[in-house]
Amino acid sequence: MTARHLLVVLGDQLNPDSALFDGADPSCDVIWMAEVANEACHVWSHQSRIALFLSAMRHFAADRRIDGWRVDYRELPATAEDDNLPTLEAALAQAIERWTPQRVIWVCPGEYRLRDALAAVVSEAGVPLEARGDRHFLVDDAWFADWAAGRKTLRMEHFYRAQRRRFAVLMDGDEPVGGKFNFDAANRQSFDARGPGLMPEPARFPPDRVTREVIDLVQARFLDHPGQDHDALSRFDWPVTPAQAEQALVDFIEQRGHAFGAYQDAMWTDAPWLYHSRLSAALNLKLIDPRRVIEAVESAWRDGRMPLAAAEGFIRQVLGWREFVRGLYWWGMPDYARGNALEADEPLPTFYWRGRMADGEPIPMSCLDQAIGQTLRLGYAHHIQRLMVTGLFAQLLGVRPQAVHEWYLAVYVDAVEWVELPNVLGMSQYADGGVMASKPYVASGRYIQRMSNYCAHCRFDPGEAVGESACPFTTLYWDFLLRHRERFARHPRTALQWKHVERIDAERAAVIGEQAESWREALRASSRGEG
Ligand code: FAD
Ligand code: SF4
Repeated sequence: MTARHLLVVLGDQLNPDSALFDGADPSCDVIWMAEVANEACHVWSHQSRIALFLSAMRHFAADRRIDGWRVDYRELPATAEDDNLPTLEAALAQAIERWTPQRVIWVCPGEYRLRDALAAVVSEAGVPLEARGDRHFLVDDAWFADWAAGRKTLRMEHFYRAQRRRFAVLMDGDEPVGGKFNFDAANRQSFDARGPGLMPEPARFPPDRVTREVIDLVQARFLDHPGQDHDALSRFDWPVTPAQAEQALVDFIEQRGHAFGAYQDAMWTDAPWLYHSRLSAALNLKLIDPRRVIEAVESAWRDGRMPLAAAEGFIRQVLGWREFVRGLYWWGMPDYARGNALEADEPLPTFYWRGRMADGEPIPMSCLDQAIGQTLRLGYAHHIQRLMVTGLFAQLLGVRPQAVHEWYLAVYVDAVEWVELPNVLGMSQYADGGVMASKPYVASGRYIQRMSNYCAHCRFDPGEAVGESACPFTTLYWDFLLRHRERFARHPRTALQWKHVERIDAERAAVIGEQAESWREALRASSRGEG
C-alpha cells in the first residue's frame, strides 16, 4: 500500500473545507485519523468529552469515505490489553511506515504539545512535512504577532475593534452600527426573584448508532473518568456533525439569541443553558465555521430577530474573545503555560473532580455545588460559572494555576488547549501577570449573590467574611486583597479595589487570615494529591 500524501486529520480538525484538501487527490492521497488512549488520559478527560471527539471523528471519516476518500482510521480497541498504540506519535509512526508517503501534510495542530511531538515523528521517519495554516480562524498567527509586536499589554477590546473593521462586521462604513463597538453595559443583567421562568429547551441531538457505539467504548475503556458518577454519558446530546451544528446555531438564534446579551452573565439553580448557544464544542471541533456563526447572528440583527446588544455581545465572543485567545496562545507558548505570577501553590480540592467533599457529603457552597455538579453531569458550564465560581474560588484559595488548567482541560466538552489555557491561566487565574487581563478577576460572595440565586440556597452568608456563617468566597476575597496588597494597592487599574483594605484594622486582618487558612487547611487535607 502506498500513498502519495498522507493527510493528517486530528480530532479537532474536522473541517471538510480545510486547507488540507487543497490540491489533494482522492485517487492517490490518504486521510489518516487515529483514536488513541493517551489523548483521553494525558488529562483525566470527562467521559462526554471523549465520546464527543470520537463520535465526531467517526462521522467525519464516514462522510469522507462517501466523498470518495481512502481513510486510514484507527479505532480504539475495546480493551487496554489489545491496545498496542497508546499515543498519536506511535500511531502516526506506524501509518508512515505502512503508507510510505512522499509527504505528510497537515493543518497545524491546535495544541503545542502535539505539534512538536508529531513533527518529531515525521522528521524521524525522514519524510517531508508540509504544514498549512488553519483557515477555520479569521485571524492568522502572523497577523496576531504583528498586532502584538511592541504592545506592553494585549487588550481584547482593541483586538476586537480591529477585527470588526477588518471584516466589516456590524459596521456601517467606518462606524460601528448603533454608534458604539461595545454594548456591555446593557449585557450584565441578573434575573429577579422569579428567575428565568420557562426556558425554551435547546436543540438536543440524542446519540445515533455511531455515538452509541462510542459511548459503549468509553464505558469500557474510561470507566473511572469524570462523568461516571454523574451519569454523564446517558445525558449525551451534543452536535457531532456539521448538519447538527448548523441546526444548533439556527435553534439558538430563533429560541434564545434575543436574550443572550442581557443574561449572558446570569446564573440560576438547575438552569445550565439559560440563553447560551452551546456551540463552543462544535466550533472547536470545526464542525461549523465561525464566519457562518457571525454572519447568521448579524443577519438576525439586521432582520430584527435579535437586538443589537445581544448580537454584538455574541459576536464579541466569537470574533473577539475566541480569535484573541487563540492568537495569544500561539504568541505566548510554550512559556505561557508555565505562568504563576501570584506564586500560588495550593492543590486543587478533590471536590472539583468528584463533585463531593472527601467524606462523600455534598459541597456545602451552593454555587460551587451547582457549577461543579453541572460540569460533571454535562461537561458544560457557561462563561461566568467558569470564571466567577470555579475559577474565582481556585484563585482566591491560591491553587497552583497548572492544576486549575488541568481540570478545565479535562472536564469541559469544548476544551482544547488553545482556548482553555489563556482563559484559565490568563483570564481566570492572573497567572500571566496581566498580559491578558488588566487585573485579577476577583470578587466576594456578593458578586455571586447579585448574579444568581445560589446564595439563597446556601448555608453561608455572602455578606460575612468571618464567623460561623461566613461565605468562603468572601473570607478568601478579603484574604486575597490583604495577601496581595503590596502588588496591587498602587497599581492604577486596581488601586480602587484595594483601597477598601485600608479600612481593615490589624486585628480583623488577622482573623480573616486565620479563617482563610482554616479553609485551606481543610481543603488541602481533602485534595487528590495531584502534582
Ligand atoms: P456562549 O456563551 O453561547 O458564547 C458563544 C461562543 O463564544 C462560544 O461558543 C465560544 O465559541 C465563544 N466564546 C465565549 N467566550 C469565550 C472566551 N472567553 N474565549 C473564547 N471563546 C469564547 N471555551 C471553550 O471553547 N473551550 C474551553 O476550554 C474554555 N475554557 C474556559 C475556561 C475558563 C476559565 C473561562 C472563563 C472560559 C472558558 N471558555 C472556554 C470560554 C467560554 O466559557 C465557553 O466558550 C462557553 O462557556 C461555551 O458555551 P457556549 O457555546 O454556550 O457559549
Ligand atoms: Fe457561594 Fe458564598 Fe453564595 Fe454560598 S453564600 S452560594 S458559598 S457565594
